[in-house]
Amino acid sequence: MDTIRVRFAPSPTGALHIGGVRTALYNYLLARKTGGAFILRIEDTDQVRYVPGAEDYIIETLRWCGLIPDEGPGFGGNYGPYRQSDRKAIYQEYAQQLLESGHAYYAFDTPEELEAARSAQDNFKYDAATRERMHNSLNKSQAEVKALLDAGVPYVIRLKVPAGEEVLIHDLIRDEVRFQTNELDDKVILKADGMPTYHLANIVDDRLMKITNVIRGEEWLSSTAHHVLLYRAFGWEAEMPRFAHLPLILKPSGKGKLSKRDGVQLGIPVFPLAWQGDTAEESFTGFREAGFLPHAMINFLAMLGWNPGSDQEIFSISELCDVFTLEK
Ligand code: GLU
Repeated sequence: MDTIRVRFAPSPTGALHIGGVRTALYNYLLARKTGGAFILRIEDTDQVRYVPGAEDYIIETLRWCGLIPDEGPGFGGNYGPYRQSDRKAIYQEYAQQLLESGHAYYAFDTPEELEAARSAQDNFKYDAATRERMHNSLNKSQAEVKALLDAGVPYVIRLKVPAGEEVLIHDLIRDEVRFQTNELDDKVILKADGMPTYHLANIVDDRLMKITNVIRGEEWLSSTAHHVLLYRAFGWEAEMPRFAHLPLILKPSGKGKLSKRDGVQLGIPVFPLAWQGDTAEESFTGFREAGFLPHAMINFLAMLGWNPGSDQEIFSISELCDVFTLEK
């Protein structure tokens, strides 16, 4: 069996939620348990949501918790760069590959055209049923497309989702999850600014960084359908990583994800370290500042979703590395 390679792939959009720390922890534990590699990848292609200081915060958190990556920005490794904004040219090349193989197309729709389509049809989706009447390369000649590109008309590249197929995912936690492609839209994979979206960058990097297991929060499960379609389009489906989607850490009521507002209301931190936002309302305390030791925090996070099946409740990190399994 290949060496296990897992990654923690946060987006630097603010303080790292405690649930993100748990995702990092489970990845770390699986890597340590199996003699594999734990990789940190910074997914910063969304310029709008980028928050300065967030990457440093993530790295300081991992250091405080003792979850030191084997590869990552500032940690070395043979599969870098590990910050997606430093990999722009790579994604463009792969988007080009999908254009050439007919799995993707140029879309020239202006914001006004998209708005008009949305107001003309309830729940409008840019998909197999609608794309033929939109402003894209599927219904233009090669010469027309070339003329638009030469004239510098802004475009995005969209994935051409096939109609009438099923996507079956064998999730290690959720078991079989099925999606119908007729319900999926033609996701943008490369934006007008030349930056990839999460979907393209994530798939290309998991491939190039030889990731064997994707362990992430359940909120990404629905994206996985598009990810599988991307793997298919590239011809990589047989070597896809194995997926494991973790249940989220919920509010005490059980309804919805534990939010930073809950933390304030309940008087408990939801962040590992204090975060200084622009305003007092956007600033939060952390477990560290509240006086918790990192190992205590790691211990409770480990048990929030995993259980050894015994009465033992206190684990050192090295004990966790020995006993952790995703099955449990
Ligand atoms: N950048 C995504 C995040 O912020 C990564 C999700 C994934 O692990 O694929 O959580």
